[in-house]
Amino acid sequence: MASLLTFEEALERVVAAAQPLPAETIATAGAAGRVTAEAIRSAVDLPPFPSSAMDGYAVRAADVPGSLRVVGESAAGRPFDGEVGSGEAVGISTGAVVPAGADAVLPVEYVVKNDNNIETEQELAPGASVRPAGGDLAAGALVAPAGVRLNAARIAAIAAAGVASVMCARRPRVVVLATGSELVRPGEPLGPGQIYESNTLMLAAALAAAGAEVDTGPAVPDDEGTLRQAIEAGLGADVLITSGGVSVGEHDLVRAVEQELGVEEVFWRVAIKPGKPVAFGTCGATLVFGLPGNPVSALVGSELFVKPALRALQGSVEPLPRFEPGRLAAALRRNAERDEFVRARTRAGDDGLVLEPVLGQESHMIARSSEATALVHVPRGNGELEAGSLVSWLRLGAE
Ligand code: AMP
Ligand code: MG
Repeated sequence: MASLLTFEEALERVVAAAQPLPAETIATAGAAGRVTAEAIRSAVDLPPFPSSAMDGYAVRAADVPGSLRVVGESAAGRPFDGEVGSGEAVGISTGAVVPAGADAVLPVEYVVKNDNNIETEQELAPGASVRPAGGDLAAGALVAPAGVRLNAARIAAIAAAGVASVMCARRPRVVVLATGSELVRPGEPLGPGQIYESNTLMLAAALAAAGAEVDTGPAVPDDEGTLRQAIEAGLGADVLITSGGVSVGEHDLVRAVEQELGVEEVFWRVAIKPGKPVAFGTCGATLVFGLPGNPVSALVGSELFVKPALRALQGSVEPLPRFEPGRLAAALRRNAERDEFVRARTRAGDDGLVLEPVLGQESHMIARSSEATALVHVPRGNGELEAGSLVSWLRLGAE
């Protein structure tokens, strides 16, 4: 077992093999979830003009408290085109241009209005309730660096900065193939010895959320000819992922067929649990993952290896899984040879986040695992990690 590749070494090899895909221009409105391929700079000052933070009156701060004459209005999108003189006020709405001459906004709450006159007892400092032009961002300043995923807030920032399109790496095209003669699509009756196929559905959901364009076909039986055909077609994608058939059983044909088709194996088997039989190779520019068939092993393999590869293909500056600190709710026995990735629920504790391993940690127990929101990393070693130990964990389902 000592010869097994470690998790860290395997991950390094995967990420090293995954080079960013070519970039394309994407309309900002359709760029959510994409990774920027270039730094994005603001086209305008943000806000583009000094604007009011309140509904009220634009005034000269030095004029209040006192009585002022209302000489006009500045509404959002309809600026007042004169100047505010001494003793004058202009009615103003939130987000409207603060007119020339005014240096503060008097909130409407502090005003008594009579015809065209307002009166206030409020004092104002210059700049009160005025949002200066460029106060959020100056024209030409960085809105988003290269290599970050565009979440909703980033899309909003880019749109606010007047940027209509962005360069993003092309979405990785991923083919997912389930292998196994026992697999049946949900909805069909189960024959003797058959089970419902779940891995392609899981991987399609996980990888689409991670930015991939995923294609899945019907399950491929453990028959060399059929398998060869399916794998050969899949090798045209950026990433080919198979599930099942990478262990040492007589019907585990995936690696042999891939080798015949020119896949160069980078590794097979990693010192992790679950997921030890995971295979990784390349065929030209195509990355080829062989995930074990047990659904929990496939889930762990996709979180630990496939998603980092997808992030790297999309040019993310942070492709590696992002582990966070937390504390164990219960003791966990360590495995001498393999790093374990234990499925757990998270809850807030007095002393930070607490991780409660779900009951049923065997690699076929996908129903039990579906309760989990975290993968706890239990490094290989002797003895046990006591309850309360500080551990690293990975959010399940993170992009
Ligand atoms: P294998 O890696 O092919 O030896 O499969 C290991 C276990 O995972 C077996 O119990 C298979 O029946 C099961 N399995 C394989 N592929 C799938 C799949 N796509 N969906 C659900 N279970 C699977
Ligand atoms: Mg199988």
